[in-house]
Amino acid sequence: MAEPVEVSIVIPVYNEAPVLDELYARLKKTVQGMGRSCEIVFVDDGSTDGSYEILKRFKENDCTLRIVRFTRNFGQQAAVLAGFRQSRGQVVVQLDSDLQNPPEEIPRLLEAMTPGVDLVVTVPRKRRDAWSRVAGSGLLRWLTQKMLGPTVKLNLSSFRALRPSVVEKINQCRDRSQFMAVLMSWMGVPTVEVEVEHHVRSKGKTKYGYTQLIQLAWDIVTGYSTFPLRLVTYMGIFGALTGFAMMAFLLYQRLVRDILVDGLVVLSAVFAFLAGVQLLSFGFLGEYLGRVHLQVQDRPPYLIEKVIE
Ligand code: UDP
Ligand code: MG
Repeated sequence: MAEPVEVSIVIPVYNEAPVLDELYARLKKTVQGMGRSCEIVFVDDGSTDGSYEILKRFKENDCTLRIVRFTRNFGQQAAVLAGFRQSRGQVVVQLDSDLQNPPEEIPRLLEAMTPGVDLVVTVPRKRRDAWSRVAGSGLLRWLTQKMLGPTVKLNLSSFRALRPSVVEKINQCRDRSQFMAVLMSWMGVPTVEVEVEHHVRSKGKTKYGYTQLIQLAWDIVTGYSTFPLRLVTYMGIFGALTGFAMMAFLLYQRLVRDILVDGLVVLSAVFAFLAGVQLLSFGFLGEYLGRVHLQVQDRPPYLIEKVIE
């Protein structure tokens, strides 16, 4: 049995070779200054740029390091989850590997983790990302907050500290939406907020383009609400009412004013509208059916190739 550890630092790594040396050096320095027993859990999310080899090199003379290697790229959320499950510390810290979350702030997160607090989330003093990215994330935040309602205080930052009890709660959620930050916000466990520095990504580039953000948003919408299904009902009502009004209008023209509107024009308009509504409805239904399908298959969110202790 391994010795008990006070703090586990979980870091997902996907093709981050250029920053790893600096990250590791700064982490070690921070950990030494803390005077607490720490383990660092690197989760290599199927990197193909030599990141894994660099991590193994660190491991050669560092027994506080653990490396989890995925069989392929399963995504940041899966990597973070795997890291949480592998941690043994009384407090678990999550941070990005690209140094946008400065490791030097870790002690402040731990300080905020007083007895009775289960989750410490961070708010960047000023977020250093491209304006388009900040806008995209803002939109995602707004949408998610709408879905979750005002009783959930949403925090989407990837820099946080939590207790193992929170990991247990995550494990209880047999949930297909693996957006960790949303899941943890949704739980409503006792939380404090800390302001931290945020840095520009100096090397490598972001793994989140617009497509990934839209995917994430859709995952949240269908994962946390049935609003799109209700939208189908609304559209159905709207379609039916419109059709009814048009028929009434046509009848009126024909019977009272004796005008015959060209049938084809009217028909194509109505048809296009109703066909659109129907296709959209099928689409929404399909999305939810897809979720059920995945849930029934119950495949694990990631596969581990190797854990280096
Ligand atoms: N990441 C990962 N798997 C992925 C994508 C990203 O493990 O499929 C990691 C990445 O190495 C980084 C963190 O998740 O440590 C955040 O990624 P990134 O910096 O690209 O996101 P951004 O800061 O732009 O939100
Ligand atoms: Mg980043």
